[in-house]
Amino acid sequence: MSLATTTVDALCIGFGPAGIALACAFEDAREQGLPLGRVDMRFVEAAADSQWHPELLLAGTDINHHVFRDLVTPRNPRSRFSFAMYLKDKGRLFDFGLLGRPASRHEWSDYLGWVSRQVDARTCFDTRIDEVLPVIRHGRLCELRVETAHGAFETRNLVLSSGSAAYIPELFQPLLGPKVFHTSGFVSHMQAFASERPKRWLVLGSGQSASESVLELIGRDRQVEIHSVHRTAGFKLTQLGQFPNRVFGPEHVDYFHSLDAGARQQFLAYSRATNYAGIDPDESQKLFSLIYEDTVAGRQQLHTHHYQHVTGVQLCGDAYQVTLTDRFSQQTRQLEVEGIVLATGYQQYRVPPLLAGLQPWLAADEQGALVVDRDYRIHTQGACDVQLWSNGLSERSHGISDSQSFSMLALRAGRIASALHQASTRPVTAAGCKTTLALSE
Ligand SMILES: Cc1cc2nc3c(=O)[nH]c(=O)nc-3n(C[C@H](O)[C@H](O)[C@H](O)COP(=O)(O)OP(=O)(O)OC[C@H]3O[C@@H](n4cnc5c(N)ncnc54)[C@H](O)[C@@H]3O)c2cc1C
Repeated sequence: MSLATTTVDALCIGFGPAGIALACAFEDAREQGLPLGRVDMRFVEAAADSQWHPELLLAGTDINHHVFRDLVTPRNPRSRFSFAMYLKDKGRLFDFGLLGRPASRHEWSDYLGWVSRQVDARTCFDTRIDEVLPVIRHGRLCELRVETAHGAFETRNLVLSSGSAAYIPELFQPLLGPKVFHTSGFVSHMQAFASERPKRWLVLGSGQSASESVLELIGRDRQVEIHSVHRTAGFKLTQLGQFPNRVFGPEHVDYFHSLDAGARQQFLAYSRATNYAGIDPDESQKLFSLIYEDTVAGRQQLHTHHYQHVTGVQLCGDAYQVTLTDRFSQQTRQLEVEGIVLATGYQQYRVPPLLAGLQPWLAADEQGALVVDRDYRIHTQGACDVQLWSNGLSERSHGISDSQSFSMLALRAGRIASALHQASTRPVTAAGCKTTLALSE
């Protein structure tokens, strides 16, 4: 049976924060009666709702960005979808001001859900997209087709807001299962154990998700033994200074985007300490105190292994034999654990797998990665009349603020929405396709 096909001005894959911020840009425009508000845009989202990273929605965690960097404020401080409006609606505006700490992750997720429910009329939830298909007419790529269980969409304008993908080191890929998992599945795996939870754990990684996993495992069971493995001296602090954190501002995105590929890579490596593989001072304090107090009590629950690489891991009976190799002395040692948490972070693909079917029309840089302009438009090549935008997948071209951060979300949505509006109002060619934008536009 053929699927009913709906043709839309634009389709967005992913309705996480980046997708919701884009929906807000259109909704704001609709309410102001602006032409932008007339774009017929749909969203598809794999999850059943807009909970924010539910697998690490743990008690005691908070957000690490300023609440002004919400879904809308940097783009339109008058928008009714701001965090301030959410607080006002919930009757917590004054008390939040007195709180003296960042919003908790639970509250931020609730804010995102509050916004999502007001702008999700055009969103199909529970709908994972596996591929984007090319529609070719008269030898030109005229449209893109996205098929779902309930029907298909065809469009000339596609926005990818599908977020970053969990990074699983190769060594662990064949072992993934109930007892070996990435932090992006933390809560579900913990719930699945019921009372049969492993007692000895390896937690791999030095960033926030590693520290949270360690503290959560210990919080759930004071009898567990945890081996926390680090390539460095152990958990280190994120770069928190005001000056280095200016890399999350829009001027730095302009600067970063103006650099050549080599310089961008260098700059990215230089700015990594502001967002990756680091933890907050209060978490560092908690972890260090825990180890210290255990030594006072004459026990050791948390073992930190520094300067170590995992160079081998195999399942022997019910346990995993893990080989650690010292980065400097090359000495090896063995550990035995029953559970492994991979707090190994996230990755951005050079070309997102969702776009694999469009490869012939995608321009590539010297490293084979997508070429993305300042307005987040993905450069295409050949006989191609469709437009694609990258919404939160462009760390390579736009810098550290582009993937794992709320900082640019609102402004980026504004740029993409304007560019999309322009693209969707272009005249149609004789082949039935919209005219193409020149790459230099
Ligand atoms: C635990 C955790 C805490 C964080 N805390 C902060 C913080 O405090 N401050 C900060 O600035 N940043 C934080 N980040 C970074 C955070 O990921 C981003 O700021 C933000 O979530 C990015 O939004 P996004 O929409 O681009 O991606 P995501 O949040 O990953 O959303 C992508 C969405 O696309 C959907 N999707 C993916 N693939 C498909 C598909 N094939 N079909 C349909 N739908 C699909 C997903 O289900 C998801 O809803 C945190 C990240 C994690 C993991």
